[in-house]
Amino acid sequence: MRAAIVGGGIVGAALAAELLGRAEVVLLEAETQPGLGATSKATGGLRHQFSHPALVRLSLLSIPVYQAMPEAGFRRHGYLFVTTNPARLEAMREAVAMQQGLGVPSRLLDPAEVAAMVPGIRTDDLVGGTFCAWDGSANPTDALGAFLRRGVNIRLGCRVEGLLPGGGVRTTAGDIPADAVVVACGAWAHDLLASEGVAIPVAAFRRQVFVMTPPAGFPTGIPMTIDQDTGWYVHPERSGMLLFGGTDRDDRPGMEEVVDWDGLPRVLDAATRRVPALADASLVRGYAGVRALTPDDLPIVGPVPGRPGLWLSVGWGGHGFMHAPGGAKVLADLLLRGKTDLLDASALSLERFSDPHRKGEQTAF
Ligand SMILES: Cc1cc2nc3c(=O)[nH]c(=O)nc-3n(C[C@H](O)[C@H](O)[C@H](O)COP(=O)(O)OP(=O)(O)OC[C@H]3O[C@@H](n4cnc5c(N)ncnc54)[C@H](O)[C@@H]3O)c2cc1C
Repeated sequence: MRAAIVGGGIVGAALAAELLGRAEVVLLEAETQPGLGATSKATGGLRHQFSHPALVRLSLLSIPVYQAMPEAGFRRHGYLFVTTNPARLEAMREAVAMQQGLGVPSRLLDPAEVAAMVPGIRTDDLVGGTFCAWDGSANPTDALGAFLRRGVNIRLGCRVEGLLPGGGVRTTAGDIPADAVVVACGAWAHDLLASEGVAIPVAAFRRQVFVMTPPAGFPTGIPMTIDQDTGWYVHPERSGMLLFGGTDRDDRPGMEEVVDWDGLPRVLDAATRRVPALADASLVRGYAGVRALTPDDLPIVGPVPGRPGLWLSVGWGGHGFMHAPGGAKVLADLLLRGKTDLLDASALSLERFSDPHRKGEQTAF
């Protein structure tokens, strides 16, 4: 099989690496450098704590790949989710039961256990939290480079402009015939596919990150901590810096990557309400990237019905880095065997959005 993969971010690179020796693959990247899209903005978080089993299975398929990749700099620091909301804690309890059923050692915590994990965290208003010691982080750009160095045939500065009627793509560097075209170009996929008459429910949303120096004496070695009520997270970097983000989930769709400094007071307010000592953290810089989100927060991985030879690996939202290796295994199975035993692929299909029996959108967390 000859496969043309559109998009040299982590998703396209992981798929190209997965297909090495099994198909003739070319990876097409519009920019003169790979990974400048969302991949360069990802903070590198890797977690098993999701509310949908397909996402947990993707983590179980993916995270060991990064653990076994020395270049990725895998760190296991755990993820801690906390909430003040009893109904939310109930949903988290159900999610933990499902995760444990899949072999993940996540667990429910009471406020006292939360307090022991993050010294100085305010817990008097919390009803509880969840923690998984297997969660951690790695470096997306270094992982991307490691996938490419496995021998991937990548063409840089090669923008895909459309599909060829007989199979393959039309690019700024000429036509490239192929048996399979995989669209894996993140937030740009929507418009590329729309110009070919294919509608996908994927929208780009800006997400901001503020890099902070911790206050003097602030504990090192805390887990990645997420306040489920405000969305605020603090991600501990290897360097000792802290990344703040997560309070912008109500942003309007758009591709703009300019930092909205009005978002800074919001993130600082959420931070200091949960961990008062962080009032003395100081801002180093802020940056923004875009996430390509689907209505249910699951990616779209599989064929486009009625368009033979056209495949998707898009809508990876805020977990495309962590799930890229697993998504690549699933899609390689579908491409080469027509099926996969790795997970229920119907949960990731484009058809799920036109299922008349589908219940209202339930966003996975
Ligand atoms: C602030 C922020 C923090 C995040 N943190 C995390 C995290 O902690 N953990 C996690 O797992 N995920 C995280 N993510 C999400 C993650 O970054 C994405 O899900 C992931 O990078 C998606 O990878 P991708 O390859 O699909 O897209 P991208 O990295 O955007 O790559 C798409 C590529 O396609 C190219 N392209 C576009 N159009 C064309 C065309 N017509 N022809 C050829 N090439 C084209 C682009 O140039 C780009 O290189 C975060 C995202 C943001 C914005």
